[in-house]
Amino acid sequence: NWEHVQQAPPDPIIGVTDAWRADPDPRKLNLGVGAYRTEEGKPYVLKAVREAEQQILADPAMNKEYLPISGNPEFNRLARTLALGPGSSAIQQNRVATVQALSGTGALRVGAEFLSMHLPASIPRIVYLPNPTWGNHKSIFAKAGFQVREYRYFDAATRGLNFAGMVADVSAAPPGSVLLLHACAHNPTGVDPSPEQWSRLLEVARSGGLVPFFDMAYQGFASGDLDADAASVRLFLEAGLELVLAQSFAKNMGLYGERAGALSVVSKTKEVATRVESQLKLVVRPMYSNPPMHGAAIAARVMGDPKLNALWKEELRGMAERIKSMRQVLYDQLVARNVPGDWSFVLKQIGMFSFTGMTRHQCEQLVSKWHVHLTLDGRISMAGLSAATAPYLAEAIADVIQN
Ligand code: PMP
Repeated sequence: NWEHVQQAPPDPIIGVTDAWRADPDPRKLNLGVGAYRTEEGKPYVLKAVREAEQQILADPAMNKEYLPISGNPEFNRLARTLALGPGSSAIQQNRVATVQALSGTGALRVGAEFLSMHLPASIPRIVYLPNPTWGNHKSIFAKAGFQVREYRYFDAATRGLNFAGMVADVSAAPPGSVLLLHACAHNPTGVDPSPEQWSRLLEVARSGGLVPFFDMAYQGFASGDLDADAASVRLFLEAGLELVLAQSFAKNMGLYGERAGALSVVSKTKEVATRVESQLKLVVRPMYSNPPMHGAAIAARVMGDPKLNALWKEELRGMAERIKSMRQVLYDQLVARNVPGDWSFVLKQIGMFSFTGMTRHQCEQLVSKWHVHLTLDGRISMAGLSAATAPYLAEAIADVIQN
């Protein structure tokens, strides 16, 4: 009955890791996946996470009962407070409905479904995504019934932000459209708006009657500071806008496979937030009934215990700083080799990724000739580099750019 099923293409990002795994060359590098690696190229389990995990296992009250549909309430409270700030009026007035989600992806999916069901009937379901954006955004919103449109974002000439293009496209969005924004450390470009540009975007979103949907997958990974990285969301919040927020603890707590995330919907009043929460549960129940407990229990402990919290922040700063130092090492190596072009964008871009502007052909050369595995849009994960491997990458880039 399903003999007619066609072979689906491999996922462009997950496929990079598969190809890297299958590559027998000892010099091979995996710069595809957005996961933090140590200087030794190894995955990193945070000390705060290990300690929290031990505490959970040692707790005699621990059990494996189902969580509520909306997840671990303590995790939800701490997660939204981490993003929105303990002093925010929305938190103080209990205007935020939060459900635990299957990491950032699940939060986006539940959020998109909720909006699809509950935006006013008269409004067409349209979402505006940055061009380019994380590949999964399009499918997530399309699956929830949204028409997907793009706004200009990356300027290939400057390898920075095309802010005029962005404002023009967002201003032209019909009222009620969903505006997806990367809260910080934009993936794949590493290019974020400045504080002044965020203020302008806020005005455009407000006057256009748009629904801001923040995707916050990298809080703390941009600057090393959790509060600083939440500035964009808090700016919109304090201006009194209703908004939607997807959070992931995959990167900033290294909980990738634990699928710890949260979806928050900020409403105008507490009464509305209560009704919204009841509807979010109706979205979750037929999808997966209730979320997994272990990752959320870890994250709740790490956020809630002052000692673990301090340790986490220190480790998070360390990860962000190591990535930043890789930008400098790579830049210096490229300049030392006189590779043509202005490479200062490597230093200016933010977060886990650098968007190099290399052509598809150049990327293919990197893979086949140099065993440097990356997505063919020219994105490299700075977190996959080390002081030992950056010179090799610079040599490889120099070769494919000049030959
Ligand atoms: N949004 C963006 C922009 C991302 O880069 C990612 C991870 N690559 C996610 C959301 C979701 O990741 P996860 O589901 O692992 O939390």
